[in-house]
Parts: sequence; C-alpha cells; structure tokens
Amino acid sequence: MQPGLAVVIVGNDSASQVYVANKEKACTELGMYSEKHALPEDTTEEELLALVDRLNNDPKIHGILVQLPLPKHLDDKLIINHILPEKDVDAFHPVNVGKIMIGDFDFVPCTPAGVMELIKESDVSVEGKECVVIGRSNIVGKPMSMLLLHQNGTVTICHSRTKDLKEVTKKADILVAAVGIPKFVKADMVKPGAVVIDVGMDRDENGKLCGDVDFAEVEPIAGAITPVPGGVGPMTIAMLMRNTLTAAKRAFGIND
Ligand code: NAP
Repeated sequence: MQPGLAVVIVGNDSASQVYVANKEKACTELGMYSEKHALPEDTTEEELLALVDRLNNDPKIHGILVQLPLPKHLDDKLIINHILPEKDVDAFHPVNVGKIMIGDFDFVPCTPAGVMELIKESDVSVEGKECVVIGRSNIVGKPMSMLLLHQNGTVTICHSRTKDLKEVTKKADILVAAVGIPKFVKADMVKPGAVVIDVGMDRDENGKLCGDVDFAEVEPIAGAITPVPGGVGPMTIAMLMRNTLTAAKRAFGIND
C-alpha cells in the first residue's frame, strides 16, 4: 500500500518546472510513488485527455495533478474536469470546488490549505476576526475566503475593482495577499498587530523571488507575517502530499 501521485506538465514554463521538481522531491522523501509526465508544448487536447484517462484507471495512482498554466491551445477547464474527483488532489474539479463551498470536503486546494495550517500552528484564532483576502482567483482567493468563513471569520474579498483598498485592508486582523504584484502591500495598508500572510510568488526589480507584501516595511508593524521565500510556498507542497495520502487512504478503504 503505497500512495501514488502523477504530475503532468506540458511545455517549458520555467516556474512550473521548478514546482514540479519540488513536488517529485517531496514524494520521494515521504516514500510515496510518483510519476512525472513531461509532454511537449504542442501536445493536443486528445493526447492529454488520453493520458488523464490512463491515470484515472491506474490503481498505482491515487492523485493526479496537471500543472497549470497549460499552453494557450489547451482548455484548462476541460482537462481538469476529466480528472476523477477522487484523484483530483489539487481540488480544482467542480465537484471538489462545490464540496468546499458547502464545507464537506476531502481535498482542500493546497495553497489555501497551507495558509490555514500556518494560522492553526501559530495559535491564531480565526473566529470573529476581520479577515481580508486580496485576490479572487479560483486557485487561491476564492477557496481561501471559504476556508476562513468555515472557521467563522468575517471575510471580505478584494480585487482589482475594489474601491479604497487601503481602507478595507486596514481593518483586517488577518490579511491574506494573493495578488501577483511584487511588494504590493505596504505598511500603510496594514493594521498594527495584524497577521499578514503572503501567498505571492513574484520577482522583484532584480529578478529575485519576493512576495506580494513589502516585507521590510510591513514586518515591523505586523503581529505575525510569513516570508517569501519560505512561508506559504513549502506549505502548498505539504498539503499536496496530505491530499495524496487522503486519496490513497480512501482508495484502500482506510478511514481516519
Ligand atoms: P491571479 O489569478 O492573477 O489573481 C490575482 C488576483 O489579484 C485577481 O483576483 C485580481 O483581481 C487581484 N488584483 C490584481 N491587481 C489588483 C489590485 N491592484 N488591487 C487589488 N486586487 C488586485 O493570481 P493567483 O493565481 O491567485 O496567484 C496570486 C499570487 O499567488 C501570485 O503571485 C502567484 O504566483 C502566487 N501563488 C503562490 C502559490 C504558492 O504555492 N505559494 C500558489 C499559487 C499562486 P481581478 O480578479 O479583478 O482581476
């Protein structure tokens, strides 16, 4: 009984190559079985769907992850919808998204799950807190907001059309930045003592990895803050491993 993860990557996106390598390394370290399927940029939808079919039917494989973004000629939604929900360890399939909405889920999207784990392990209570999430993507912002809501936070979701963003973020006891703009969150956007969680994986003006939060400015006033690199990134991989283990346990009929 060995949990197995298949990671599918299409094309040559350099950031995706790094993420996939880190996921494979984590599997090896934990003694999980892993398979990497690296497909060329010009892979057709039919070829990719055929691979997903094969992995859906492979008993060695309990989790399937298709690394996003896919090249433009491939339809993300079509491919993700083809993964069996019980093997969808990224929790992007509509069935799993719906389960998160109603609060009855096996898999949680890895990045928001990692944020919740950081909050829990830091003994921060979400209940009754003002939680502000900057970003409303399907991968991070929306599921992040649902998880905070399930923990009884009072949640506000901000995006590019939000008016007076600073006025909203300054009210946050827990502020999650998932914007994709380097050092976007400045000290004057943060309430003193707030818990600041930086999901961003950006490059600064020198090409160095940084987050969505201006760490040097915000760290002195925050009650707690996550760094980039470190912080949320490694937690995302840990949560992927947890989801794969959960999928394997379900397949082996093991209940917690
Ligand atoms: P995304 O799909 O591009 O979404 C960005 C969100 O930010 C959108 O909702 C957008 O609003 C909002 N936004 C953009 N400019 C804004 C502004 N000026 N004011 C307020 N909101 C603004 O990005 P994503 O996939 O959620 O990723 C966000 C960041 O997290 C990126 O840096 C990404 O690399 C990183 N990330 C990290 C991990 C990890 O493992 N640590 C995993 C996934 C992503 P609209 O909806 O109005 O456009």
